Amino acid sequence: MIIDTHAHLSDRRLAGELQHWLQLARQAGVKWIINVGADLASSRLAVEQAARHEGLWAAVGVHPHDAKDWTPAMAAELEELARHPKVCAYGEIGLDYHYDFSPRPVQREVFIEQLRLARALNLPVIIHDREAHQDVLNILRAEGPFPAGGVMHCYSGSAEMVPAYLELGFYISFAGPLTFRNAKKPRLAARQVPMDRLLVETDCPYLSPEPYRGRLNHSARVVHVVERLAEIKEVDFATMAAQTTRNAEQLFGLKGADATEAN
Ligand SMILES: [Zn+2]
Ligand SMILES: [Zn+2]
Repeated sequence: MIIDTHAHLSDRRLAGELQHWLQLARQAGVKWIINVGADLASSRLAVEQAARHEGLWAAVGVHPHDAKDWTPAMAAELEELARHPKVCAYGEIGLDYHYDFSPRPVQREVFIEQLRLARALNLPVIIHDREAHQDVLNILRAEGPFPAGGVMHCYSGSAEMVPAYLELGFYISFAGPLTFRNAKKPRLAARQVPMDRLLVETDCPYLSPEPYRGRLNHSARVVHVVERLAEIKEVDFATMAAQTTRNAEQLFGLKGADATEAN
């Protein structure tokens, strides 16, 4: 059994045939999916989908791309959404200096504000960090500690930076790029993460793993990330699936009737 800890099922490429994608995921052994919001509309929809479908949890938050649209009213609505029983995390939030869709000072301000909101809600945080490693780390250090924990999603930092996140109590999550043929950096980083701090995700519909690179991604394909991670850590597939599932349950406090595996 596997948990896809980061999916965007509110994306219109997946939302239209949600049942289909959920069925494929179940057939692939995915027991739970965390459906992550990126702005107010997708956060709302992620919670609605999680409320309607078994096997789905939700996270709400505003991505750095949309930090420029942040308003106090938005904060109030996100806070309300976050109190839904199927919301297990706050995110995704962070900094993205690759696209710079929002001015960097605004990204930082909205990131800090949401970190504080997440802490007030006692929710773990899902962190997006693209080409902003030092600023993300500085902000997390300044705003910590985070008693509810957090995850560096789709980790793209260096192996050298891994210990700094572990020290903050964070988990490190890997996605499709780990499976890419010349993915030396994530491979080296994964070696530095202890087994009990690893998570897996798809970040679908983006970042489809090999052998489906460049195609539409969906939660069933998290299997390929588990496979690759198992190879890197030199354990078998079942061990890696069970360990990353336990880690996700721990961080996100997941439990429920559809938790059928015994471990
Ligand atoms: Zn992201
Ligand atoms: Zn994402």
